[in-house]
Amino acid sequence: MNDCLFCKIIAGDIPSSKVYEDDLCYAFRDINPQVPTHILVVPKEHISSCGDVTAENAALVGHIFTVIARIAEAEGLNNGWRVVSNVGPDAGQTVPHLHFHILGGQRLSDRMA
Ligand code: AMP
Ligand code: ZN
Repeated sequence: MNDCLFCKIIAGDIPSSKVYEDDLCYAFRDINPQVPTHILVVPKEHISSCGDVTAENAALVGHIFTVIARIAEAEGLNNGWRVVSNVGPDAGQTVPHLHFHILGGQRLSDRMA
């Protein structure tokens, strides 16, 4: 995707604060952190959102969740953390490339919406 911000970050065309990378996914610190630890995990393949998860890419999404768990552990989020993925305008998705927010480092809001 030529015009996708996160595809450009994955390609290294836009700088980011890398946390983790493998053949399938890339993780970096959110530029506008909402909590002390705020990390985004994205597939290297362009998928628009959770709304485009299919049987064909489900293994990739499963792999990303193993990475999310290891990042949370490595970041020392021993007291808990949250993973969030916004889909579409009602959820406030601003970047149309599938991404999972890892949020932690403080007591999180009891509200999810
Ligand atoms: P969402 O609103 O769920 O689509 O999340 C998009 C996230 O991307 C927001 O939390 C932004 O702060 C974050 N973001 C936008 N641009 C960058 C960037 N260049 N580097 C890191 N994070 C970014
Ligand atoms: Zn993309």
